[in-house]
Amino acid sequence: MARLPARCLLFACATLTACTAPAQPAAVKLALPAVKAEPTRVRAAPTRPAQLWPFTRLRGIDYVSVRDLAARFGLKPAWSKPDQAMTLGDAPGVRFTFENNQRDFYLDGLRVFLGEPVLIHRDSLWVSKLDVIKIVAPLFQPADHLAFLPAAPPRLIVLDPGHGGTDPGTENKKLGVNEKTFTLDVAFRLKKLLEAGGYRVLLTRDKDHRFSNSPAIDLPLRADFANKAGADLFVSIHFNNAPEAITGVETYAIPAQFMPSTADTKPDDLTAAALPGNRQDYANLLLGHQIHRAMRTGLKTPDRGYKRARWAVLCLLSCPGVLVECAYLSNDAEARRVATPEFRQQIAEALATGVQNYAATLAALRPAPPLANK
Ligand SMILES: [Zn+2]
Repeated sequence: MARLPARCLLFACATLTACTAPAQPAAVKLALPAVKAEPTRVRAAPTRPAQLWPFTRLRGIDYVSVRDLAARFGLKPAWSKPDQAMTLGDAPGVRFTFENNQRDFYLDGLRVFLGEPVLIHRDSLWVSKLDVIKIVAPLFQPADHLAFLPAAPPRLIVLDPGHGGTDPGTENKKLGVNEKTFTLDVAFRLKKLLEAGGYRVLLTRDKDHRFSNSPAIDLPLRADFANKAGADLFVSIHFNNAPEAITGVETYAIPAQFMPSTADTKPDDLTAAALPGNRQDYANLLLGHQIHRAMRTGLKTPDRGYKRARWAVLCLLSCPGVLVECAYLSNDAEARRVATPEFRQQIAEALATGVQNYAATLAALRPAPPLANK
């Protein structure tokens, strides 16, 4: 999958990392559905945090004490490994786990990546203030960020089956399977499930083709398709590739402005950019979290983490969007599983559950309308 390159917002060509780049013929206008665009119902991301956090500057970056997080969240901090790992828990058990020098943490057992590593300082671990504001606090207390979430649950969903046409995506030549075929199959299955749940669903492609043979054009056009359709939600479906014998699921949202991608240890030219997709930071966060949780629960595969990358297909969206690497086709055992219709149906069901849980979260956060005066 291609990441949006620096200095090239609209014409992405990119670093190819996990799976390779997407595809489709040039008739973009013909491919766009005649759907009346709805006004966006997502509000802009705030320029200030919903809460003020006390912070200390460590290694040139503002950091918040995990003990202050605990106090704000009403949780009890404890060292689970002396001077290395801390948990924050309540009566039923552990909610958060943070570890020194790690760029991830666990929330209710789910692995979530941060922009900066957790650090130890004095008698506590510390998390970067940007990570607290953009990831940790809104995941734990989404109600405090209600003003920046969509005003209503999604109705129109655009599914993006990764790759297509001249771009097969990840290929497992030994088994004779490729990514573009499976992403389309899963998208069809997911469409059916979501439509049965009352959603309207469009696909960026319903055939073995792509918008353009150039990923720099193809990827932005997939986002453009969703934007012009007035989508409320965008899910890009992929299968992963790695040189090692890795298995499991990864979910991606774009990083907040100034937050490095998971694959990067230092800021790049785009890190400081406020991308169109950043207007939906909090909704992206909740959507990815719900989808990642549902995939982990539904498929029972290893948790490769909820990660961050400036994927070209996500950066230009004007609705909440995530990219899911459902499984590794580079792993023969996992590719054999994906090759079965039963497992692809499980993937589609897990993705549908994630979307439904995201919608239910939004619905639950919205207060009931005030009663009319009698
Ligand atoms: Zn891919």
